[in-house]
This record gives sequence, structure tokens and C-alpha cells, in this order.
Amino acid sequence: MRLIDGHVHSEISDGTDSPQVLVRLAAEAGLEGIALTDHDTFDGWEAATASAKESGLILVRGVELSTSYKGSSSHLLAYLPDPTDAELAATVDKLRGAREQRLRWMVDAIGTDYPLITWDRLLEQQQEDGVPWGRPHLADLLIEEGYVADRGEAFSRLLSPGSPYFMHQWAPQPPEMVEIVRRAGGVPVLAHPLSKGRQRPLPESVIAEMTDAGLFGLERNHREHDGAARAEVDRMARRFHLATSGGSDYHGTGKPNRLGENVLDRSVLEAITEQGRIPLVGVN
Ligand code: AMP
Ligand code: FE
Ligand code: FE
Ligand code: ZN
Repeated sequence: MRLIDGHVHSEISDGTDSPQVLVRLAAEAGLEGIALTDHDTFDGWEAATASAKESGLILVRGVELSTSYKGSSSHLLAYLPDPTDAELAATVDKLRGAREQRLRWMVDAIGTDYPLITWDRLLEQQQEDGVPWGRPHLADLLIEEGYVADRGEAFSRLLSPGSPYFMHQWAPQPPEMVEIVRRAGGVPVLAHPLSKGRQRPLPESVIAEMTDAGLFGLERNHREHDGAARAEVDRMARRFHLATSGGSDYHGTGKPNRLGENVLDRSVLEAITEQGRIPLVGVN
């Protein structure tokens, strides 16, 4: 059986491992492949592709796109899209701009009470351009300055949606993003629709609209879905005739999620491969 972890982050977004290290860890974990799904960027694809080719690992090139519905954010995984599609490329650029604007606001807000937290300090930690800035980067600075012990504590206190330092981030609506992904030849899957960290789940009426727009599937096998949540995802998948996927949502040391703890079904990987515009890496 082929085991492919369908949801993995590198340090190119908010994970802590380089794409090269991820590929090595995946091979060591006995996985046959991974989907690299960094937030709102394709910048990890090149290094991951080179490493996957060297080590014989299958790489599903993907991205996890931010969307927003009525002030609550949802993530859309897109597998095998054409990264040069003008509309998709412009959308991820715009999302990274919105991420930076929003995080600058949060840094300024926290900085009024925690003076060691400044944008310059954040830049020192993360030197690349075009970073998809997110709260985990701010959490890491809060850890470094000794204000919190780990990302989990930062998220439950200073960075939670109820905190005065929290700002919502602009993103396209979920059905619109499904259309953008399909037009770029990507295969769209709603990420962790019932995860606990969510402010509130997307209403089923929006999932219906996303289905009409071309949604492929719902992520079912995910650490933040217990048995009841998985049963609920199965029910929605039957109702809307959607596939179900799975992945670890590994973020290195940034989260407890272990690489390979959830995987894609073989038949689902095959359907993604058939529908995606670009090929898998590592399969002839
Ligand atoms: P943002 O992109 O700013 O909305 O932050 C959301 C990101 O933070 C998600 O992609 C997760 O990777 C990460 N995250 C959310 N909750 C936690 C948590 N409790 N501990 C560690 N990371 C988290
Ligand atoms: Fe993340
Ligand atoms: Fe996510
Ligand atoms: Zn993720």
C-alpha cells in the first residue's frame, strides 16, 4: 500500500523543517510520499522536488490557501495546480500582502504592552522575502522573548480570536477560491472542516456552494477531528458526493502533529492525480 501524507508544512510557511529535511523525515517514517501544502506560497516546491527526486519519494505539490467567510477563516488545500496560472499567482501574492499587513497590526498592538515585540525583531528571525506571515511567527518571537512557553500557549492566550491583539485577515470567500483553484487546474479540498481551533465551522450551505464551484473533497483524517467529527465529515461527503482526504498537518516542532499520522487513501490520490494539471513528482 502507498502511504502519502496529504498535508505537510515546511519552514517556507509556518512549519519548522526545511523542505529537504521534510523529505528525509518522510522517508525515515516509512512514508511513500508527502503533499507539501505550505500556506499561500509555492516557494518550497523547488527544493522539495529536488530532494524527492534524489530520495525516490513521491511529492504531491500543493498549497493551503486562506479563505474567509463572515469574519472566520477557513483553509482550502489545492493539489497539483499550475503555479504560473496568472489568477492563482496574483491571489497568493495578494494573500501574502494581507498576511503581512495583518501581522504588522498585531505586532504593533502586542508591542504596546510587550515592548520587546517589534516588526524588526520578527524580520531578524525570518530573513526571506515574501514570507506568508502568520501568527506562528509572532508566537515564536513571544517564545524567544520569554513571554510564553510554546506556540500552544501563545495561541490560547495572546493570539486567540478573543484577544484584544487579534485582527482578522482578509481572504477571498471559499466558493470563489474553489473556482480560482479549478481554473488553475488544482484539486480543491476543504482542510480540517471541523477542527477545534476554528472560530466556527463553515455552514453547510457554503459547502454546498463550494461543491457547485468544483470542490473535490473534504479533509477527514486529521488530528483535530475526533470520531464524531469524522462521522460528520463522512455524512457531508455522502450528501455532496465529495471525496475524503487525510494528512498530518505536520508543522515540525510548531505543533504536536506527527508526520504520517494521517494519510490519503490510494483511490483518492489516484483521483487527485488524474484531475490535477501538473504531475506527481517521483512517479513515471
Ligand atoms: P494565521 O495564519 O495567522 O491565521 O495562524 C494560523 C496558523 O497557526 C495555522 O496554520 C496553524 O499552523 C497555526 N496554529 C493554530 N493554532 C495553533 C496552536 N494551538 N499551536 C500551534 N500552532 C497553531
Ligand atoms: Fe499552519
Ligand atoms: Fe490549516
Ligand atoms: Zn495546514
